[in-house]
This record gives sequence, structure tokens and C-alpha cells, in this order.
Amino acid sequence: MPAPQRTRPVHTLTVTRTEWITPHMVRVWAGGPGLAAVADNGFTDNYVKLLFFPDGRPEGPLDAAELRASGNLVTRTYTIRHRTPDELAIDFVHHGDTGLAGPWAAAVRPGEEFSFMGPGGAYRPDDSADWHLFAGDAAALPAIGAAIESLPAHAVGVAFLEVDDSAEEQKFVTEAAVDIRWVAPGTLVDAVREYPLPAGRGHAFVHGETGAVKQLRSVLADVDQLSISGYWRRGMAEPEFQAAKRTDPV
Ligand SMILES: Cc1cc2nc3c(=O)[nH]c(=O)nc-3n(C[C@H](O)[C@H](O)[C@H](O)COP(=O)(O)OP(=O)(O)OC[C@H]3O[C@@H](n4cnc5c(N)ncnc54)[C@H](O)[C@@H]3O)c2cc1C
Repeated sequence: MPAPQRTRPVHTLTVTRTEWITPHMVRVWAGGPGLAAVADNGFTDNYVKLLFFPDGRPEGPLDAAELRASGNLVTRTYTIRHRTPDELAIDFVHHGDTGLAGPWAAAVRPGEEFSFMGPGGAYRPDDSADWHLFAGDAAALPAIGAAIESLPAHAVGVAFLEVDDSAEEQKFVTEAAVDIRWVAPGTLVDAVREYPLPAGRGHAFVHGETGAVKQLRSVLADVDQLSISGYWRRGMAEPEFQAAKRTDPV
């Protein structure tokens, strides 16, 4: 008999505003009465599973396990980039007209509702590390940005961030000494490989396209603490990517 699906609470928020923070990154702000029940778990890689309904959004309360069983549920995973008492913000890479979540975020308007499960999370920069290293592409910028902005002033680190071009570069608000290195498409792995790791105990956070992340796992094998996984995979929509991850974990 198949194991029963765990029912996770579903949260529903209302979009309050959207802003294009770069030509290919749209920030969706949302709030409303549902926000209070969205736990703040203290992780900087807080992620949620956004719900999409191929057969249309059902009336009434949403039961994820029931919807999944009926086939009327697909999910996409996104990081909570900011949280204030009244709103949270999620940054979406708009990678063209393909996919569900990217086009949804580009088109959504204030007043529309959306739902998600979560948040989950597993990483927060370790205050006691001697140095920090961040590596990722645009999909990881929300989590890397949140991590950099959480660092205390005495922290030191380096961030290798792969974006399409200089228009996609973002600013992070931090007093920590983080050397931000924007790198061109396809050069993330080499940029990290060429970096001599400092002495002392390091904490690294490495996420993005699976092919690059797989290579970075061996490049960074000597780092003491490593949070590393693929966030997406070229040529695969998220359900296919998540299924592949179960048999071939990154
Ligand atoms: C824990 C976690 C946190 C994440 N946080 C964020 C986040 O905050 N912001 C964010 O933008 N993404 C984030 N991602 C990645 C995001 O879940 C995937 O990019 C997802 O596939 C996008 O869904 P979609 O419906 O737009 O495209 P899909 O329907 O999943 O894919 C359609 C096509 O687009 C391609 N594609 C998917 N993502 C990208 C991309 N980033 N660039 C170029 N091509 C792509 C796929 O390979 C596929 O060919 C996160 C992933 C994980 C696991």
C-alpha cells in the first residue's frame, strides 16, 4: 500500500505590488491576514512551494495531498527574499515564456491571491565560521542575498554570482566584508576553482543549475561546512527535475 501523503498547511496571500529589480528578475510582494501563520524559521534559504492548478483553482480550503492525488496540483520552489511585519517578497527569474512560475510572476497584479506550502529551509551562515563562500546563478540570488544581508559586520567572505550580463547585477545591503564577484554565463565553476580557499574554517552556500553545482561539489570538497544542491536543471521543468534529483542527488 502506498504511504499516505503528509498533509502540509497551505498559506494564501494577496499580491500587494510587483517590481522589476533587474530586466530579468521580478519581485512579488504579498501580504494579508494569511501572513501571520507563515512561520519565520530563522533560515536565510527559507523556501516555499508555490501551488499551481492545471484544472483551475478549486473553491474552498486547499488540501495539498488531496489535490496531488487528483492530479490538480503542480508546485514550484521559491525563496522568501525579504520579510517585513506586513509583507514578504519573492524574487522570480523571468527566463522567457516557458514554465509556470516565471511567466506567472511577470503577469501577476496587485489584489490577486496565490497559495504555497512551507516554508522549509536548512541554512543560515554560521557566525563562528572564519570565512564564507557563496556561489550560484540568478535563481540562487534571493537566498544568497538574504544570507549576505544577515552577516554580522565582522564576517568576511566572497560571492561568485553568475548572471546573464551586468544589467542583472544586484546590490546587497551589508556591513560585512564580502567580495562580490559577478561572473559571465558558463564561468561559475572555473571562477570558484581558481579561487584559493582561505585558511581556517569555511562555510559555503552553493546552489543553481545542477550541472554547475555537481562540478562545484568536488571543487569545494575540502570546505568544512557546505550547503550545496541543484535549484533547477537546464531542459527540465521542476517536476521532472525533482524526480531526477531523487535518483541522482546533487
Ligand atoms: C530551494 C529552492 C529555492 C529556489 N529559489 C528560487 C528563487 O527564489 N527564485 C528563482 O527564480 N528560482 C528559484 N529556484 C529555482 C526555481 O524553482 C526553478 O527555476 C523552477 O524550475 C522555475 O519554475 P518555472 O515554472 O518558471 O519553470 P519550469 O516549468 O520549472 O521550467 C521550464 C523550462 O525553463 C527552464 N528553467 C527553469 N528555471 C530556469 C532559470 N532560472 N533560468 C533559465 N531557465 C530555467 C527549465 O530548465 C525548463 O526547460 C529555487 C529552487 C529551489 C529548489
